[in-house]
Amino acid sequence: PTGEPEGTLMYPSDEYKPGIPNSARINATILALVRNEELHGMLQSMRDLERTWNHKFNYPWTFFNDVPFTEEFKEKTSALTNAETRYELIPKEHWDMPSWINNDLYEESVKTLKKNKIQYADKLSYHSMCRWNSGMFYKHPALENVRYYWRVEPDVHFFCDIDYDIFRYMQDNNKTYGFTITLYDAPKSIPTLWPETIKFLAQHPEYLHKNNALDWLSDSLRRPEHNKQANGYSTCHFWSNFEIADMNFWRSKPYEDYFNHLDRAGGFFYERWGDAPVHSIALGLFEDKSKIHWFRDIGYQHIPFFNCPNSPKCRGCVTGKFTDGESWLHREDCRPNWFKYVGMD
Ligand code: GDP
Ligand code: MN
Repeated sequence: PTGEPEGTLMYPSDEYKPGIPNSARINATILALVRNEELHGMLQSMRDLERTWNHKFNYPWTFFNDVPFTEEFKEKTSALTNAETRYELIPKEHWDMPSWINNDLYEESVKTLKKNKIQYADKLSYHSMCRWNSGMFYKHPALENVRYYWRVEPDVHFFCDIDYDIFRYMQDNNKTYGFTITLYDAPKSIPTLWPETIKFLAQHPEYLHKNNALDWLSDSLRRPEHNKQANGYSTCHFWSNFEIADMNFWRSKPYEDYFNHLDRAGGFFYERWGDAPVHSIALGLFEDKSKIHWFRDIGYQHIPFFNCPNSPKCRGCVTGKFTDGESWLHREDCRPNWFKYVGMD
């Protein structure tokens, strides 16, 4: 609206208040994949997000599970919000190991992953979860007519009051993806992810967006050993336990073809590809990088990392704090890498 070139248009969110609370909502939902055993962690996350944001807008909550939710789960979560709550079962064909995965090869691979100290390597459900979050969730019938989502996990924290409609911001500014934290990944969980990506790109050079973030994805300067072990990928990714995004991107042909290529390659099971690097690579290659937004104003924690803005609207987190874990964890922050290539200060 101001005539500034796309991508440099940055609304200071304190001033950005389009839409009246509880007026017309965007086609969107808050979304959580969660286990019944994580009820109390889910209630924690809900309380924070309702208090800081959603009580002003009342976006529905959609909960997903690979087994049915208990009555207790439904009662206690729905009691925490005035918004609609939906409880959805994941179809088996979206969750189970696909037929082309060889079980013996999977068992062998787990041994290698464990030797390399890859967390959750021997947990089959974790592999299924990463695959579901990569290429399945937006295909669930319950989301068929929904466009935007905000992904929330149990046991996360939100610290800052947000007074504008986040989904309206996404739509009005033509944003595809919003994040709070970026991290380096464990290279040995994804040794063939980048090589498979390069193979795919060779088959589909037309999918590469002209304003892509390939130089961000392939950076080798700050942590060269990561790039080397991941065979050309910096491992820098948007930490996807927090995601605010437009499902039209995941539903697009480039992403669908990319996901199917990866799914056939088998790395969700033979390695431990996470949905975070898969989403991040796809965004960095197939999307206009100016459509990716850092929500600097959303104070957030998922153990052990924080996004903690300098604002009187935030309570309970220390401005600028990145981690409360061991000091070496500070090296895991790759936001400077993103800012360098996307040209933000
Ligand atoms: P981490 O954040 O990588 O340590 O992994 P989490 O254990 O937090 O799992 C990521 C998300 O997937 C969380 O929202 C979990 O509740 C959810 N999740 C993981 N495994 C399962 C599962 O087997 N069933 C269901 N329903 N949810 C799962
Ligand atoms: Mn988690």
